[in-house]
Amino acid sequence: MSEFCKAPPGSLAVSSESLPILPTAVPVPAQPLRALLDTAESELLAWLATIGEKKFRAGQIRRWMISRRIQAFDQMTDLSAVLRQQLTEHFSFSSLQTVRHQVAADRTEKLLLRLHDGELVECVLMRDPGRRTVCVSTQVGCAMGCVFCASGLLGVKRDLTAAEIFEQVLVLHRLMEDDEKITNVVVMGIGEPLANYRNLMQALDMLCSDDGFGLGARRITVSTVGLPMQIREFARCGRQFNLAVSLHAPNDELRTQIVPVNKGTGLQEIIAAADDYFEITGRRVSYEYVLLAGVNDQPHHAEELSRLLRGRNCHVNLIPMNGVTELVMTAPGEPRTHQFCELLKDRGIPATVRKRKGADIDAACGQLRLNRTATDAASKDE
Ligand code: SAH
Repeated sequence: MSEFCKAPPGSLAVSSESLPILPTAVPVPAQPLRALLDTAESELLAWLATIGEKKFRAGQIRRWMISRRIQAFDQMTDLSAVLRQQLTEHFSFSSLQTVRHQVAADRTEKLLLRLHDGELVECVLMRDPGRRTVCVSTQVGCAMGCVFCASGLLGVKRDLTAAEIFEQVLVLHRLMEDDEKITNVVVMGIGEPLANYRNLMQALDMLCSDDGFGLGARRITVSTVGLPMQIREFARCGRQFNLAVSLHAPNDELRTQIVPVNKGTGLQEIIAAADDYFEITGRRVSYEYVLLAGVNDQPHHAEELSRLLRGRNCHVNLIPMNGVTELVMTAPGEPRTHQFCELLKDRGIPATVRKRKGADIDAACGQLRLNRTATDAASKDE
């Protein structure tokens, strides 16, 4: 790992000069009121019973919560004023607070959000003609440790709840104009979504619900480092979500250097699980491949990758690395990127280079959180 890092060999991935070491035990303040979206249906029903309200109110309240139209309990106009007041006293409507809002020249918008316990996550709204894509996080930090990724530099703190995942979409939706509509969701923010499987699935359910955004599963893409067991579970969930697998290398030796969790799994097992995903859902799997100059971007890597994926109905998404301040790795130049893509296509593997969005803001996944965490830690030290 150290060879990819500006930190001296043997130290953490983050340069100790630029990032003060965080205290190990960060006190987590209790959430004053529980987010209603995170309250189990049975609990909500029990609470309604204690205040003498009818059962059907639970469905009414839930529909309002995921409806994207309101921002406070008081706007639930078909509930009595008393019930709205009781909801306000017992639950929090939203658990996310915007700490930073960046708007890029191409109108990509990125938010840094604070959770009830002070932790930070990022989400992004991307605009293309006829398409509005939101990208959400699923964990605070990441345990996968991919050497080019800002999200994992400080490890993982905790999973996001289903409400925290879903609410990112609600918050981004509020940034949009009246005539804009979310068309796609990509689960490609901070964290490993399949390591937080249950909450992810609950959040996706809310997104697909007719009471929510009513998004078709085919509009939603979940990106994973490649956890075979969870990929198979995802395949059997009965929905046609898109699966993207982060490959980044055509052989295990190189992949284990770039994606350390590969050590316990291996490419063959991951690709076999992805094949099962295609078999069961009929959805073509995409493979993401972050191009790192001088590391995995040579013509022989493209050839090896084409051999690895040959005969599969798949697609390779080439992503020139977004710069991360703390890391030495960079993206290859345009000619090398183009050559890599052409080599794959010549060998029958459909491939495209991902368009860079929001290049003038801190678009690398996890960079905003990393910067902010470092600043907060520095100010605590003062
Ligand atoms: N843990 C999941 C999802 C998180 S990131 C996964 O590994 O797929 C979504 C995609 O962004 C992944 O393919 C990840 O490898 C890529 N990514 C992370 N950091 C990047 C960077 N600095 N530049 C380009 N792509 C990056």
